[in-house]
Amino acid sequence: MIVAVDQDLVEAVLFRLGRDPCLAAATGYREDDPEREALYQIADPGARNEAFGTYFAHWFHQAGLEGALRSALDEFPLLAGTIARATFCRARSARDEVGELFRGAEGPPRAVFALLPERLPERTHVPILRHECQHLHDILDPAFGYPLDPAVLRQLEADPLFRMRYRVLWDLCVDGRLSRRFPEFAKRLPFRNRELENSFGFLGSPVIEELFKELWYGEQPGHARLWKLATDPRHERGPALPGMPCPLCRFPTFSWAEPARIDALRDAVVRDFPAWTPAESLCARCAEIYAARNMRLPPTIVV
Ligand SMILES: [Zn+2]
Ligand SMILES: [Zn+2]
Repeated sequence: MIVAVDQDLVEAVLFRLGRDPCLAAATGYREDDPEREALYQIADPGARNEAFGTYFAHWFHQAGLEGALRSALDEFPLLAGTIARATFCRARSARDEVGELFRGAEGPPRAVFALLPERLPERTHVPILRHECQHLHDILDPAFGYPLDPAVLRQLEADPLFRMRYRVLWDLCVDGRLSRRFPEFAKRLPFRNRELENSFGFLGSPVIEELFKELWYGEQPGHARLWKLATDPRHERGPALPGMPCPLCRFPTFSWAEPARIDALRDAVVRDFPAWTPAESLCARCAEIYAARNMRLPPTIVV
C-alpha cells in the first residue's frame, strides 16, 4: 500500500509545526530554516517548486507524520491489505473529513482521506481515521454485503431521509465496535444514542433501547439489516429537529419555520401536500416560498 499525501496538506501541516515552538522543538523543524530560505533563490519556477516539494516531503517524513498516517491504516488489515494506495488530502472543514473508496474497472481499489491540517500536529487525526477506516473495512468485507452495483448505490442515495437514517445506524455500529478496541470511542455512546433517538423516535423507547444494544454492543450487523431499518416507512417524516429533512423539500435543514408562520401558511401547503400537518413543520426556505406565493397570488385575481 502506497501512502501519498497531497502537497497542499503537507505544506499546511508543516506551516503549523513551524509556528508552534513546542512542536518545532519536538520535530526539529524550524520556520526560519536557512536551507528553506535558500530555495527561494532558485530562479526556474519549475525547479523551485520541485525543490520545495522534496524539502517538505523530507520534513513530513522526518517529523514522523507519514508513519502516523500509515499506522492508523495498518490497524485495519483488510483495508490496508486490499487497497493499492491511500491518498491524504486537505479538508476545508470538519464536515469534509471523510474517507472514500474508489474502485476502477481494473486493479485494486484506492482510498482517499480528507483531513484538516491541524489534526496531524495535534495527533487528533487518529479517532477520525479509525472511524473512517471502519466504514471502509465494512465496504470491503463481503460479510457486510455493501452493494457494489453503482445503480443500486444511486438508488440508496436518492432519498435524503433514508440516507440520513442509514448514516446514523452505520455510525452507531462503527463506533460501538471501535469502542471495544479503542476505549476513546466509549465516550461517543451518549451522542450516538441521542442521534438514534432523534431519527427513530417513532419506534418508541423500548424498541430504540433494544436497537441501540444490538448495534452498539453487537457484531457487524450487515448492510441489509441497516437498510431495512433505515427505510422503515413508518413516520417517514421525522420531528423538526436540527439536521432533519424538511417534509416538503426533503433537504436536511437547521432552520425551521416559526410556529406562528406555519399556521398562516397551512392552507397553501395542504393544497400541495394533502397529507402534511402543521405538527411536522417545514423549513424556513419552504416557508419563504409559500409566503411569497400567498402574496403574489391573492384569491381573487381580476384580469
Ligand atoms: Zn461515519
Ligand atoms: Zn423545505
